[in-house]
Amino acid sequence: MSILFSPAKIGTLQLRNRLVMTPMHLGYSPKGEVNDQLIEFYRARARGGVGLIIVGGCGIDRIGNAFGMTQIDDDRYIPGLRQLVDAVHAEGAKIVPQLYQAGRYAHSALTGKPSVAPSPIPSKLTGQTPEELTEEKIKEVIDSFSNAAKRAQTAGFDGVEIIASAGYLISQFLSPVTNQRTDRYGGDLEARMTFGLEVVEAIRKAVGPDFPIIVRVAGNDFVPGSNTNTESRAFCQALEKVGVNAINVTGGWHETQVPQITMNVPPGAYAYLAHGIKQAVSIPVIACNRINTPELAENILEEGLADFVGMARPLLADPELPNKAMTGETDSIRPCIGCNQGCLDNIFRLKPVSCLVNAEAGREFELGQIPQSAQTQKVLVIGAGCAGMEFARVATLGGHKVTIWEESGQTGGQLALAAAPPDRQDFGYLANYLARACQKLGVEINYNVKATSDMILTAVQNEGFNRVVIATGARPITPSIKREEGVKVLQAWDVLLGREKTGQNVIIVGGGAVGVDTALLLAEAGTLNSETLRFLMLQHAETDQELYRLLTQGSKKITVLEMVKGIGRDIGASTRWSMLADLKRHKVNCLDNHTVLEIRADGVLVESTGDSTQKVIPADTVVLAIGSCSQNELYNNLQGKLEILSIIGDAAKPRKVLDAIHEAYAEGIK
Ligand code: SF4
Repeated sequence: MSILFSPAKIGTLQLRNRLVMTPMHLGYSPKGEVNDQLIEFYRARARGGVGLIIVGGCGIDRIGNAFGMTQIDDDRYIPGLRQLVDAVHAEGAKIVPQLYQAGRYAHSALTGKPSVAPSPIPSKLTGQTPEELTEEKIKEVIDSFSNAAKRAQTAGFDGVEIIASAGYLISQFLSPVTNQRTDRYGGDLEARMTFGLEVVEAIRKAVGPDFPIIVRVAGNDFVPGSNTNTESRAFCQALEKVGVNAINVTGGWHETQVPQITMNVPPGAYAYLAHGIKQAVSIPVIACNRINTPELAENILEEGLADFVGMARPLLADPELPNKAMTGETDSIRPCIGCNQGCLDNIFRLKPVSCLVNAEAGREFELGQIPQSAQTQKVLVIGAGCAGMEFARVATLGGHKVTIWEESGQTGGQLALAAAPPDRQDFGYLANYLARACQKLGVEINYNVKATSDMILTAVQNEGFNRVVIATGARPITPSIKREEGVKVLQAWDVLLGREKTGQNVIIVGGGAVGVDTALLLAEAGTLNSETLRFLMLQHAETDQELYRLLTQGSKKITVLEMVKGIGRDIGASTRWSMLADLKRHKVNCLDNHTVLEIRADGVLVESTGDSTQKVIPADTVVLAIGSCSQNELYNNLQGKLEILSIIGDAAKPRKVLDAIHEAYAEGIK
C-alpha cells in the first residue's frame, strides 16, 4: 500500500495519506447539533487512520436540509463543530464539512417549508413541486453557502466541500432536465454552470485564498437528457479556474435507474469517471463509489485513475480499516458488503445510520470498548452461522473461552444462501471474515456435530461449560398444498445452494427476498458470461441489441407467485428497485395477489385474489420460497435444565442478518 498511505496535499492542506472518508448522511443530529454520538463516531474513524474526513452533509439553510442533518447555518453551532474538529485533529486526521442544499430533493414535511429549485419541476424523490428561485433568492442561497463556509473556517475545519452532485441544488442548476430558466442561470451549459461557480466564488471571497475548497460532482448524472461525463469535465475545468482545490467524483443522481452503490455494482466500477475528470484538470481528483478494499484503492492510485480514494461505508463497517491495511492485517478487516441494510435503508426510514456487519457503528459513544469480563466463562455455542460466530467473536474479545458445535461441515449458515444469487457474493465475504476472526481468536469450532440435549448436558457436566448459547438458525417452511405426482417440488434453499436442479419451466412460490433471489439465480442460466461478452464485444461479433438479448434471456422460463400485493417487499428500499428491474430485464413473470391452490401433474393451479379467477400455470418444477421457521427444539428441551441458557439469531426468530449480528453482539458483551 505504498501509494495509498503516502502523504499528499489538497491545496495548502497536508494529509497523512490518500484515503478520504467521503460524506455520509448519518441522521445523528436530530436538532442539527453536534453531539457525543457524532463526535465519537468520527473520532473512531480518525483514530482508525483515515487521512481526511468529509462530514456530510451539513445544512447551509433550513429549506434544503434533510432528516437528522448536522447544521452549519447559524453561529450557535460553531462551538459544537469546534469540538468535533478538535476530536478528529487529536487523532491526526483532517476534517472538512460538506456544505449541503438539496433543492427539490428536500421534503417540506421535514423542513416545514416548500423546497426550492432552478425551475418548478416535480421531484421524483418527494413527489413535490419546488418553488422556482428568484434572482434575489438565488443571492440568498449563495450567501448561505458562503456564510456556512466562513463558519466552518471559524470552527477550525481544514477546508470545505460543496456538493454539486447526486441531483441536489447545484446539480439541478447544471442539468437541462431540471433547469429550464431563461435568465442568466439557464440555457446552455455555460449559463447553467453560473450558479455553481458563483457559489464557489462567494465562498472563496469569504474564506480567503488559502482555505481548501473541494467540490463533489457527478461524473455522469445517469439521467436521460441530463449531463454526461463530457459536461462534467467542462464543469470541473471551470471549477479549477475559479480556485477549487480538488474534485470529488461520484456517480449519478439519486433518481438514476443505474445502480450506484448496491451490491450488484462491481467494486471500483465508477473509477473511470474520476479518471475522465483527472485527464481534464490539474488539481487532485478523488475516486469513490463501491471502493471497498484497500487493495482496490491502491490499485486505482497505482493505475493513475485518481489522486485520492474515497470510502464511506467501508469505514462505517470497520473504522480501523486504514490502520489494519497499513500494518498488513487486511484479512482482519470487517468488510462492507454493500447491503445498505443498516445505512442507506435506515435513512430512507428516517432512522439514524447503523451497519449490518458492525453493531458498534453509531453507538461508539455508549458502547466504547468491548468490556473485559471479571470472570472467564466457558461458553458452548450451538451453531456456526452468523449469529453464533459473531457471539463467539465478541465474547472471546470480552475474555471468555468459546467452543462452537456446528452440525454441517462449514461455517456461515444462511449467509451461503444469501451469497448464492448473482452479484450477491459479498454476503460470503462476511461469512469468511467471521470465520477468520473466530479462528484468529482461538475459538474452537467442531464440525459435523449434531447436538442433542443429552450431549449438551453431558458437556456442561464433564467439560465445565457454564453458559450455553443456542444459535441453530432456521429451516424452510413446507406448506401443506395439495399435490399430484409429476411436478418436481423443491425448496428454494436447496436450489440456491446447488443441492437440487430445476427443470426448464419453473414456478417459484413466494415472492419475498428468497423467492426473488432464486428467480434471479435461475434467470442467469444459459446467459452470456462476462468473459464471452468481453470477447464478443472486442470482436464486434454481435450487435449491441443482440448482446443485450443474450445477456438477459436465459434458458429457463420462470414465474414468481406471491399471495399478497408486491414482490420483494422484505428487501430494503435502496436495493429492491434494482432487483425488480433485474427481474423485468430477465423477463421473469411476476404474479402477485395469487394464491396457490394445488400443485398438479402439469403445473400449478392458482387463484387471483382480486376476481377469484383460477388458472393452471404450466411448470415442470415448483420451488418453495414460503419463509422459514426457527430451529428452537434444543432450546425448548434445555429450558429449566441449565443455569445460563440463551437463544440468538434466527433460532429465536427468523429475521434479517442485521438483527442476528446485532443480537449476537449484545449477547456477547453481557
Ligand atoms: Fe456496508 Fe451494509 Fe454496513 Fe452499509 S450496512 S456500511 S452497506 S455493510
